[in-house]
Amino acid sequence: MTGEPVLELDGVVKHFGPVRAVDGVSLTIAPGEVLGLVGESGSGKSTLGRCVVALTPVTAGRVLLNGVDLVPLSRRRLRPLRRGVNIVFQDPSGSLNPRMTVADIITEPLRLHRIGNPASRRERLRELLDAVGLRAELARRHPHELSGGQRQRVSLARALSAGPALLVADEPTSALDVSVQAAVLNLIARLQAELGFACLFITHDLAAVEFLAQRIAVMYLGQLVEVAGRAELFATPRHPYTQALLSAAPVPDPAVQRTRRRIVLTGDIPSPVRPPTGCRFHTRCPLAETRCLVEEPLLRPVGPNGTLVACHLVAPDGTAPPLTA
Ligand code: ADP
Ligand code: MG
Repeated sequence: MTGEPVLELDGVVKHFGPVRAVDGVSLTIAPGEVLGLVGESGSGKSTLGRCVVALTPVTAGRVLLNGVDLVPLSRRRLRPLRRGVNIVFQDPSGSLNPRMTVADIITEPLRLHRIGNPASRRERLRELLDAVGLRAELARRHPHELSGGQRQRVSLARALSAGPALLVADEPTSALDVSVQAAVLNLIARLQAELGFACLFITHDLAAVEFLAQRIAVMYLGQLVEVAGRAELFATPRHPYTQALLSAAPVPDPAVQRTRRRIVLTGDIPSPVRPPTGCRFHTRCPLAETRCLVEEPLLRPVGPNGTLVACHLVAPDGTAPPLTA
């Protein structure tokens, strides 16, 4: 990676009382890079995303945006830095003010950050509506007068209006009709390529990360278990949890599907109030040994390509144990 990362997380912890939602996450995102964050529901993905955009204060750790740690900053000092990062949520209805028009929603970040004047903001509004594929006359409407897909386009336009260096997208298509999911995913890909913002793309949809992300981080029970380049992760998933996630995902090619070992993950994700000892995945791992019950595996580089894995059973050269169902 060259140059300073847009985002650097260093030992980020977020507890809600006894709930250890995020429990020590470190990672970086380079300028213009799309990092996919995957994992089952309840693994802490949304909480991590909210920590990144400083919507929720962290319990411990550092969150550096363009080299500046946001964690110790007062609200007043944080305000100008918020221009650099924004978020789109799963359900756009909840995040759009129902009393505001589309025009006011999209241009609000420009007013908050005192960017431009009324005329330049009107011009920017026209550009943004065009960029997200909305007709200009929708600007006068209110969110309830739009379809779900149109509302998510408005959220995207708003999130991008002040030109952030980083966009956090938290399951941006999963509340939408299947028929519009692909269109919104394509739109995000096109905007990212055109505008060059970095993106933390949170999803449980592996096909979506394979389409969008250059690098993928796999989260389990508040921690990262594997971080790898897209091609590497899909060709040679190393952590048993990653292997299980991939084996459960549908493969479009039936020939590939037949060669896949299916590893069924049994049981639910354990409670983050009292996570399992040692390796947090040991209660569901078909390969767990005694060491896995007592010794916590650290996220460490394996193999030639800088892949990071937290598993005792993966060799330093990246050789991973074959999983059988
Ligand atoms: P994901 O997005 O991966 O589904 P979340 O970040 O939403 O995971 O949740 C991680 C864990 O933190 C879950 O056990 C969830 O119940 C818990 N959690 C999330 N937000 C809160 C909160 N505000 N108060 C208490 N527990 C929370
Ligand atoms: Mg979530």
